[in-house]
Amino acid sequence: MTQQEAEGDDDEGLKIWPLIEDYCTDVDHEFTARLEAWRPDFAHIHVHEVIGGVLARQATLAKDIARAPALWTGHSAPILLRAMADAYINIAWLLLDPVERCRKFVLFGLGQAKLELEHRRAQIGAREPTPQEAAMLEAGERWIDDQRIGWLLDVDLGKWSSLSVRQMAEEANCIDFYNYVYTPFSACAHSMWHHIARYDLRKCGNPLHRYHRHPTSEASVSDIHYLTLAAKYWSKTLGTFDQAHGFAIPGPSSYETLIDAVTGRRTDPRTE
Ligand SMILES: [Zn+2]
Repeated sequence: MTQQEAEGDDDEGLKIWPLIEDYCTDVDHEFTARLEAWRPDFAHIHVHEVIGGVLARQATLAKDIARAPALWTGHSAPILLRAMADAYINIAWLLLDPVERCRKFVLFGLGQAKLELEHRRAQIGAREPTPQEAAMLEAGERWIDDQRIGWLLDVDLGKWSSLSVRQMAEEANCIDFYNYVYTPFSACAHSMWHHIARYDLRKCGNPLHRYHRHPTSEASVSDIHYLTLAAKYWSKTLGTFDQAHGFAIPGPSSYETLIDAVTGRRTDPRTE
């Protein structure tokens, strides 16, 4: 992003900051409209917490990406977009059988939290924990136990194994999204060779060097295409949520409004 762009006006006359704030306002409206339409069922309040929490996270990620044009690059945007892809696959899978699957989702998370505590205890080992460590361990234990009271009391958290994202995507009928979004963005999120070689190395022009690659850390040009991808995934999440609940909520789509505003700008087909 150039200085001119950072000040709010790029070389194509697009007012970037008003566009970003308009987009974030639209996302807030869409999110609030769902919460108003979606009454909590107190017999299964964990469904409201899990699904609502994932929906909230998706809205927050879309807005965080929107407000950080410096991250609209192939180096950084896919890390956040991969998290959005994860959240989408989660919610699509959870909504197919919310009462049971949200329960599993909570148990899996609590199992992971318990495992973290055990690792921390193992690290402390036989020595006496410091007061800070003791307080941290106790708070962690209490956070888990508070959630087990009532409906989770006798559950052995240890027996819940990892749910494969691929299996979830298959069951939720979004294996294409897994293959074409989740997996490619994982290369960036996990700093794998097929990301590094493309983004962090440049081929040397000297034929005597047999075209080896130089490591390079260069400032990247921001590409608003990454924002449109975040907007697309938020919109896709809303679509799946609305369909599962039979909602037809009126109002302009944040995605369509954004696309209208940036139409004609360059896009990067590698990240479709
Ligand atoms: Zn060289």
